Amino acid sequence: MSQGNQRSVVLPSEEKADMLRLPPFRYHRPTSVTEAIALMGEHGNEAMYVAGGTDLLPNMKHRLFEPRHLIALKCIDGLRGIEEITNDHGGDGILRIGAGETLTSVATNSKVQEFFPALAEAASHVAGPQLRNAGTIGGNVCLDTRCTYYNQTHFWREALGFCLKKGGDVCHVTRTGKKCVAAHSADTPPVLITLDATAVFLGPEGSREIAITDLFVADGIENTRRTRQEILTEIRIPLASAARRQAYVKLRQRKSIDFPLLTVAVAADLDETATLRGIEGVVTGLGSRPRRLTKWNEVAEGRALDEELVEELAERAHRQCHPLENMIVDPDWRRAMVPVFVKRALEQVALG
Ligand SMILES: Cc1cc2nc3c(=O)[nH]c(=O)nc-3n(C[C@H](O)[C@H](O)[C@H](O)COP(=O)(O)OP(=O)(O)OC[C@H]3O[C@@H](n4cnc5c(N)ncnc54)[C@H](O)[C@@H]3O)c2cc1C
Ligand code: SF4
Repeated sequence: MSQGNQRSVVLPSEEKADMLRLPPFRYHRPTSVTEAIALMGEHGNEAMYVAGGTDLLPNMKHRLFEPRHLIALKCIDGLRGIEEITNDHGGDGILRIGAGETLTSVATNSKVQEFFPALAEAASHVAGPQLRNAGTIGGNVCLDTRCTYYNQTHFWREALGFCLKKGGDVCHVTRTGKKCVAAHSADTPPVLITLDATAVFLGPEGSREIAITDLFVADGIENTRRTRQEILTEIRIPLASAARRQAYVKLRQRKSIDFPLLTVAVAADLDETATLRGIEGVVTGLGSRPRRLTKWNEVAEGRALDEELVEELAERAHRQCHPLENMIVDPDWRRAMVPVFVKRALEQVALG
């Protein structure tokens, strides 16, 4: 049944299904952000936003979310566009990326490639080509955390007694009932952090801008400061960051499609004598939020990014990272991969 821009999706009952089915929901197609926020206000906890649906729909099939109303963001023109915006007061401008832009368009956009090659690279390594054609950068920044004991069917999770993140009272990773440590598994946020990007949200209370580095919190259940009514409208990256040397590398099981087991983003400022004036590294795929590698500048500033320094920084990263059993892959092996991938990123930066 279709009514204006709403559509009811009625599917066979779970009992009759011989495959994973979506739960029934009403699909809304607002054409403006204001309309979308009003719909969210109307339906409250029964509603969720959906962009490309590449993560939310599989999660709904697993009954991790069962919204009665899906509010689609893909007909909202205001969430589109990748453009350079100059600063009227002098100084550098920004690159504005609409949250509704697909990962394919981010990866192939000439300005992203020219100014922020590490971001183009990260977007081009999310999932596989079909998923990148539908999945958006907004959905990537707002992606739910992942865990071996969570991204499973209802039947599988029920057999285990569920877990803290959904329906249970214990975490099977930490074996306590206190904290969920599901992994942040999105590829673009680490790069956005090294580029000093910000995220703009619009909600019932108006608009606010948050630095991506401050957006994430260490809580696997809800790992961002976004409220459920807020829509991520755009990402802003200062054009000054284009002067930074950038690198992004990713560890995954199958290069053609998988989520990251580890992602490393590095950005560095080198002067004309190839001396480091600032460097930062961010890793993700380990804990519930992307993690800034600390105290790099203490050892790196004023030095050349040579083999010795690369080793030193990689060793520091190794000491700071302690993956948990939140993924199917052995945490000791993932930890051993941290210095290997940090070195690869640093070597890319050194080569320019
Ligand atoms: C097989 C497979 C492999 C994958 N591999 C990777 C991978 O390697 N790396 C990776 O990062 N991801 C991966 N993904 C996940 C996903 O495809 C991407 O993260 C994608 O960018 C999600 O975007 P989307 O538009 O489809 O989000 P959706 O699924 O539509 O939404 C995801 C979440 O974000 C919220 N949301 C979406 N847009 C907004 C917005 N503008 N404002 C507020 N909330 C919003 C939704 O409510 C939902 O909670 C994979 C998925 C699959 C199925
Ligand atoms: S980390 Fe623990 S609580 Fe969180 S999803 Fe995994 S098992 Fe559940």
